[in-house]
Amino acid sequence: MFRRDPLAAAIRALQAELAGGPRAELGREVRELEALLAQRELRRFATLRGPAEQELLAALPDAAALVSKEGWVRASNAAFDALAATGRAAGLTPLEITRSAELHEAVRRALEGTARRLELVVQRRTFLVHLSPLLRGEVLVLLRDVTDAKRAEATRRDFVANASHELRTPIAAIRAAAETLLSGAVEEPAAARGFVEIVSRHAERLARLTRDLLDLSRIESRQWKLELGPVQVAAVAKQALELLAGAAGEKGLALRCEVPAEARVRADARALEQVLVNLVDNAVKYTAEGSVAIGASRDRDGWVLSVSDTGPGIARHHLDRIFERFYRVDAGRSREAGGTGLGLAIVKHLAQGMGGEVGVESGNGGSRFWVRLTAA
Ligand code: ADP
Repeated sequence: MFRRDPLAAAIRALQAELAGGPRAELGREVRELEALLAQRELRRFATLRGPAEQELLAALPDAAALVSKEGWVRASNAAFDALAATGRAAGLTPLEITRSAELHEAVRRALEGTARRLELVVQRRTFLVHLSPLLRGEVLVLLRDVTDAKRAEATRRDFVANASHELRTPIAAIRAAAETLLSGAVEEPAAARGFVEIVSRHAERLARLTRDLLDLSRIESRQWKLELGPVQVAAVAKQALELLAGAAGEKGLALRCEVPAEARVRADARALEQVLVNLVDNAVKYTAEGSVAIGASRDRDGWVLSVSDTGPGIARHHLDRIFERFYRVDAGRSREAGGTGLGLAIVKHLAQGMGGEVGVESGNGGSRFWVRLTAA
């Protein structure tokens, strides 16, 4: 019976063993069958592992790859593939993909079982790399793109440094003047007046700086809520020009409003006035003679508002950076004229907050700053 039907006998013996009987004696053929079934199961598992891994890698928000024991990429997601010149990382080593000897060395150490973290620049982007040894002797490589975060951090650092520097100058001047007054100058009316004037001038400067800094911070943190609606440009332009009529008059500059009555844009009236005031203020500050004009022209679905002057113009290589915070063509001249270096940054942020764009054209005949807003 055993000879004729080894399979049925084996099944019975195994059932008996599992029910608590003695260990089943299996024939050679049945043992062979067992080995074959196990092998097939293993193979099925191996093919299953692929899609599951692939799904996991694809779900990760970072560039991710599995590096084999031999040091080449066995599986990767699309973000990791994008780092390879060929657009496909599988089969390549991390060194071939990133050309980073540092990463190569770190992967080698991770394959030996040591988890690592490092920062890496690939194709001019900065990545935070995590290397985790896995149980099978492979390594999981994760690359998080931190370029934008690092840039923002650097900008913030620069900003704080610049702001502190700007604040320090008037504070030092006020302090020095006050000390001079206290150490006797206050008894000499003629000298005292000069020092009090210094205090007053620099206190003004501090007030302007803190006002601009607060405005910028309110715009950036969206505390300054822009309420967009139809705004008639001519009315706002006239208000802005009126505010600066005194300063222009002192320099003998003519102010002109050349905005057509039908120019209506989608804007926040107060923000638009601030934009125009800042631009006219600059035009008046930097123009020695001639005129400053606000204009508006129709452009596709919008209006381009402009502030033009007959001033010295701005050299071409400054134009790209002129809207950056604290960027000035001539810092001494700007401070002398009462500038904070923040006026144009505020203009840009407010314009963008209203869904608009800003720009500048400049040459020997003067400058023309423009703001494009949607028509209302
Ligand atoms: P500031 O407070 O120094 O005027 P802004 O951000 O308003 O700061 O302007 C940045 C710089 O751009 C100024 O320092 C000045 O060098 C230059 N600038 C701005 N507007 C004009 C203009 N109309 N003509 C010439 N230069 C200008």
